[in-house]
Amino acid sequence: APTLLWLRRDLRLADQPALAAAIGEGAIVPVYVLDDETPKHYAMGGASRWWLHHSLASLDADLRAVGSRLILRRGKCDAVLAELATETGANRVHCIRHFEPWWRNAERAVAKRLDLICHDGNYLAPPGSITTGSGGQYKIFTPFWRALQQQMPPPAPLPKPSSIPAPAHWPRSERLNEWGLLPTKPDWSTGFGADWSPGEAGAHHKLNGFKRHAATYGETRNLPSVEGSSRLSPYLHFGEVSAAQVWHAVAGAGGSVDTFLGELGWRDYAQTVILQLPDYGSRNGRPTLDTLPWRTGPDAAADLKAWQLGRTGYPIVDAGMRQLWATGWMHNRVRMITASFLIKHLLIDWREGERWFWDCLVDADYGSNAVNWQWTAGTGIDANMFVRIMAPLVQSPKFEAGDYIRQWVPELAQVRGEAIHDPDEAGCRPAAYPPKIIGHRAARERALAAVKQAH
Ligand code: FAD
Repeated sequence: APTLLWLRRDLRLADQPALAAAIGEGAIVPVYVLDDETPKHYAMGGASRWWLHHSLASLDADLRAVGSRLILRRGKCDAVLAELATETGANRVHCIRHFEPWWRNAERAVAKRLDLICHDGNYLAPPGSITTGSGGQYKIFTPFWRALQQQMPPPAPLPKPSSIPAPAHWPRSERLNEWGLLPTKPDWSTGFGADWSPGEAGAHHKLNGFKRHAATYGETRNLPSVEGSSRLSPYLHFGEVSAAQVWHAVAGAGGSVDTFLGELGWRDYAQTVILQLPDYGSRNGRPTLDTLPWRTGPDAAADLKAWQLGRTGYPIVDAGMRQLWATGWMHNRVRMITASFLIKHLLIDWREGERWFWDCLVDADYGSNAVNWQWTAGTGIDANMFVRIMAPLVQSPKFEAGDYIRQWVPELAQVRGEAIHDPDEAGCRPAAYPPKIIGHRAARERALAAVKQAH
C-alpha cells in the first residue's frame, strides 16, 4: 500500500524529512489539502493564496520531474486524508509538524483516524525543545536565542531525492486553476510577479543571491532604500527552503552574518510563543492592557482606511503601506514604523493591523505576525513597553528612506533632498498628497494618556 505525504507549509523536495521517511516505505502519494474550515478565522489571506497557487504549480512540476505528482483536494483535512487513504489503500501518513493552534488540532484529528507520523524540519530546532534550566519554555527572546545557539548548527540538510516511487494507480486530483486562488476583480497582484518566483527553485535563487551580501547584512538591513535583507520570508513561510538550508548556506559568510542568524532565531522564537500561548494572535500577552481605550467608531474607521491605503500624510508610513499592497511584502524597519503608527499614533487596536497584514503579506505567518505586532504594541510577553513610541519623522531620515519613499509614493517622486521625509513641514507638500492625519506631538500625548487610563 502507498504512503500519503501530507504537505502544508513544507512545499519542497530537498531537506524534507517527511518525504525522506516516506521514501523508505515504498510508493508515495503526495497530497495538498486546501482546507479553509480548519483554520477558520485564519484561513489564508489574499496575498498568501496568490503565493500558494504558484508554489503548488511549481511543486507539481518538480514532483513530475522525479516520477511523482501532486494530488490536490479540498475540504476538512482529516476527512479528506481519511477518504484518500481509503481510495488508495494507504494507512500511513507522513507530515512535517506545524505549530499554529489549528494545525495542532488537525494533527490530533488525523491521528485518530490514521497512522500519522509527524517530523520536525521547518525550524532551526524543534519548537518546544529549547527549555530553561528548570525545563520550562522561554518567554523572552534573548535567553531563548542564547540557549538555541548552543544547539547549533542544525543538522546537515537532506539531499533532494532523484526519484520518488509512484503508486500503481494515481488517485483523482482536483485542478489548481479551479481553486480560484488568484485574484480576479480587481487583480491587485500584477506587481507581485516582478518580485517573486514562488517555489523551491525560486527560493534557492533568492538564497544564492543573498549569500553574496550576507556578510554586510548588519549594515544594510535597516535601510529600506537598499535591498539589504534576504527577502526569504515567504519562501521560509511556505517551507520552500528550510531554515537549516539557509543556515548552512550563509553561516560561514563572516562579517555581520550572525545578526542575520539571530533573525532566523526570532522565527523559531515566535513558534515557541504560540506553542505556549496559542491565541497570541488575538489575545494580549499582558492582560493589564486589556482595558486600553482603543479608538473605535467612524473616525477611527476612516483613519484605519487611510493607513491601509497609505494616505496618512507621513511619507515613510505611506510608502510602507503601498509597498505592502503592491508587492505583498514590506521592509522590516518599515513594518515596525507602520505598525507603531497604527497602534500609538492612531490608537487603533493592534489586532486590526494584524488582520490587514494577514491578508496582504505573502509571508503572513501566524506566529511571526502575532509576536511582532504584540512586540510593537507593547502588549506582548516580552520586554517592550507601550510607552516606547516610535517617531516616524525621526526614523525616516535616520534610516535614509528618501529613495524608498520616492519609489512607493509617486506624488512625492519629485520632492528633493531632506524635505522628502516631511514635505508638510518643509512647505513643499504637493496638493495630491494628504496632510498629516494627526500631528506627532498630539498623537503621542493621546497615546500616553490612554495607557495611563488602562493601568
Ligand atoms: P531577513 O532580515 O533577511 O531575515 C531572515 C528571515 O528571518 C526572514 O525571512 C524571516 O523568516 C525571519 N525573520 C526576520 N525578522 C523576523 C522577526 N522580527 N520575527 C520573526 N521572524 C523574523 N515575518 C514573517 O515572516 N511573517 C509575518 O507575518 C511577519 N509579520 C510582521 C509584522 C510586524 C508588525 C513586524 C514588525 C514584523 C513582521 N515580520 C513577519 C518579521 C519581519 O519583518 C519579516 O520576517 C522580514 O521583514 C522578512 O524579510 P526578509 O526575509 O528580508 O528578512
